[in-house]
Amino acid sequence: MRSLTLCFLPSPRIAAYFAAVVGAALLSVLCIDPDRTGIALAADASVEIERIEVRSEAGVRSLEAAVLVEAVDGGLLVELPDESLKLLQPPEIVLRATLNGPLEGESPRALGRRILGELPPGFDLHITKHYLICFDTQRAYAQWCGALFERLYEGFRNYWDKADFALTEPRRPLIVVIFSDRQRYAALAQNDLGAATDRVVGYYNLMNNRITTFDLTGSDMLKQKPASSAGRAGLDILASPEASGLVATLVHEATHQLAFNCGMHQRLAPVPLWLSEGIATYFETPDLGSERGWRGIGIVNKPRRERFLARYRPGSLESIVLADEPFRHAEDAIDAYARAWALTYFLVQTRKAAFVSYLKTIGKKQPLEDDSPAQRLHEFTQAFGVTPAAIEEPVMKFVVRLRTKDR
Ligand SMILES: [Zn+2]
Repeated sequence: MRSLTLCFLPSPRIAAYFAAVVGAALLSVLCIDPDRTGIALAADASVEIERIEVRSEAGVRSLEAAVLVEAVDGGLLVELPDESLKLLQPPEIVLRATLNGPLEGESPRALGRRILGELPPGFDLHITKHYLICFDTQRAYAQWCGALFERLYEGFRNYWDKADFALTEPRRPLIVVIFSDRQRYAALAQNDLGAATDRVVGYYNLMNNRITTFDLTGSDMLKQKPASSAGRAGLDILASPEASGLVATLVHEATHQLAFNCGMHQRLAPVPLWLSEGIATYFETPDLGSERGWRGIGIVNKPRRERFLARYRPGSLESIVLADEPFRHAEDAIDAYARAWALTYFLVQTRKAAFVSYLKTIGKKQPLEDDSPAQRLHEFTQAFGVTPAAIEEPVMKFVVRLRTKDR
């Protein structure tokens, strides 16, 4: 069983505003995911930290924020200390003042307390080396997620290290919010996902830089009752074959979060969706039996391969390289993800150096930078020495020949 992995897109309001004012078409933002090496707050001297007074219906309040983009009419895209991005329209901005020195670094626990204040009552914190997990379910489940994500973190960094792509450390904790059950999750996720809420078990939100999910040991998709204690029984369900799709979704979303926080992509930069989804589907193959490292990286993604072969049509690779449209229609999105996996898998396995060079090119793109099909075609062809149309046949032959292992 495979749950639908649908990534969350920034609101059309933000896209429309910046398209009109900045002249930037928005964007290949996909899974709601973040960071330029970056949208740095304290760590990047080129980003100004300001105190901004903002008017709202509740009165005037003061924010400390990094200004990422300033529109010609004075509108701002800012990053707040809780890692979320916020759009400020000119009439809201009362006063701006540059602060001397960087924002005070906030400890993970202090940041956690700030986030707990925004969540419904009953949440607690679990802090690992790189993650800040806010949960209102069994602590054992939060610990299981923390261990899973830390293993992915190590595996992800090691993998790219060996490929001569040294990623940066995330500047701040990677935030994960886990609800105890689907109902409580849906009440919050509804705001981001709308009608897709029922089909999505977890997602990365590019605007607030968080993963939001719920305790999958109680998932109705597993036909199991929620674990009644914090013992292993509930968690063991997640090592079962029926759970592989659910765990794959968690890993998929965590991969997006890593890619946007470790210098691979920047939030709100025009990262082609085929690339970001290709990376996420490349890493989503879970390998829960491996205690050390992440040996599942690079194994054939069987559901994606089957889907790609079953739904192949000529021209399908060019269509995802030139534009993100194929990912935006619910009925076609699953096919687009499968194509993204096939193209990425082929390029990583057969042209890794060129793929890494392409990733670095895309990683330099700034938030709200312009993008066009012609530019995307040019960058692809420059990197791989071949057009997406011409690469289609080799990709198809390669994917047909791949062997899959039933796991
Ligand atoms: Zn995704």
